[in-house]
Amino acid sequence: MYKIKDQALIKTCSYIAGNWQSSQTSFDVLNPATGETVAQVSDASVEEATLAVAAANKAFKAWSALPAHERAKLLRNWFNLMMEHQDDLARILTLEQGKPLAEAKGEIAYGAGFIEWFAEEGKRVYGDTIPSLSPNQKVIVTKQAVGVVASITPWNFPNAMITRKAAAALAAGCTFVVRPATQTPLSALAMAELAERAGIPAGVFNVVVGEDAVGIGQVLTTHPDIAKFTFTGSTAVGKILIKQCASTVKKVSMELGGNAPFIVFNDADIDEAVKGAIISKYRNAGQTCVCTNRIFVQKEVLASFTERFAVAVKNLQVGNGIEDDIQIGPMISSTAVDGVIKLVDDSISQGAILHTGGNRHHAGSHFYQPTVLTNVTPDMSVARNEIFGPVSPIISFDSEDEVIAMANNTEYGLAAYFYARDIGRVWRVAQALEYGMIGINESIISNVAAPFGGVKQSGSGREGSKYGLDDYLEIKYLCMGGISQ
Ligand code: ADP
Repeated sequence: MYKIKDQALIKTCSYIAGNWQSSQTSFDVLNPATGETVAQVSDASVEEATLAVAAANKAFKAWSALPAHERAKLLRNWFNLMMEHQDDLARILTLEQGKPLAEAKGEIAYGAGFIEWFAEEGKRVYGDTIPSLSPNQKVIVTKQAVGVVASITPWNFPNAMITRKAAAALAAGCTFVVRPATQTPLSALAMAELAERAGIPAGVFNVVVGEDAVGIGQVLTTHPDIAKFTFTGSTAVGKILIKQCASTVKKVSMELGGNAPFIVFNDADIDEAVKGAIISKYRNAGQTCVCTNRIFVQKEVLASFTERFAVAVKNLQVGNGIEDDIQIGPMISSTAVDGVIKLVDDSISQGAILHTGGNRHHAGSHFYQPTVLTNVTPDMSVARNEIFGPVSPIISFDSEDEVIAMANNTEYGLAAYFYARDIGRVWRVAQALEYGMIGINESIISNVAAPFGGVKQSGSGREGSKYGLDDYLEIKYLCMGGISQ
């Protein structure tokens, strides 16, 4: 099927306690580029989710007791296998998610990279000894795995959104249950197949694929044997899940929505800014939480930026991502396209000017033309909402203070980008932007060594980097008395 060399990577059942667990009913996974069925996958229910939690709970004792370097060896095997099967994994990803094959290969390398990174980082979970207030006591701090971790992940990065969590959890000594988005379960199941081949013990990594998001979500956020819950998805759903986690006071981390500003100052290198805006806006057809959502351009350079940017947008190749040289694939569903059409139409009726694009693309019902809107103001729908599609609203501004106020005027605070050369401005703006991540003359900022996460209603906790382990570790304080004779 679909030029996938290792057909055993195509799995259609949940992976629980080291077994491929089928269910009575199934659902179709569709190729968003063609509408064809890629696979029929067993539809797990609340029962299977509960079994997965029990499996992870059972596996926790032995896994957390392994020395970190033993866990690292297994994680390293998993990383190697993912890289050996990079092409197959990328094809599976493109078939179910739609992103161009080159981007999918990039995601596999990026996703696998977290496993390599945390395999090493897990060896460096140090404690502390703290000078005591009393001659009769020693104060020691150790760190321990929190326990069973449950997670729910979205469809836009079917591989990396899982590894970013699972790699840190497993390296810390936690066991893991994930419910991937049902649009893109095949990538998660292929990873489970490779985890098994890597020698990761049964119950340590479990994948529950089921359409009952609410029911399975209820188990994963309320089960008393789960110590930590981690979610990537929309802010609206994140808020519901945080509330549910309160019932058992779980440790929670959330990677939620964004409304990223991309600011071009008068002193920017305009060609670099155009290149950066294209990548940050249009990769994955605009369907990432760190995608540029609002482009602010200072008046003096507005015309030159807009002209060059629109030319670059018109040159983007749209089509089925499995074919060569495609830069923009389909959106995930026709409902997603409808949402973008509404945002664009509403904004035009509010006074925005359609510069480029603005319609469904002839490549198919899930495709939308890369679009540029000018004359946009911050109150328009397209500037207030997370677009999650290939649309760029351009807003002009006069002063640094004005643009900082506009950029911060959102409940979100995930990523922000700006282009400027003046060193004083660079520092001032970087400090003033209320965001967890800032790209300065840079538009691709996420990597395994850097802390990914947001402030305000974009979430809490950090993934990747040395900080990424903290969410999976408890600090334990040991007070040893009876020291002096
Ligand atoms: P997206 O727009 O990326 O699909 P969502 O926040 O709607 O963002 O979904 C992210 C993940 O959360 C998906 O796997 C989805 O199935 C799941 N999900 C959505 N609603 C709920 C819910 N009420 N409880 C549990 N999981 C949910």
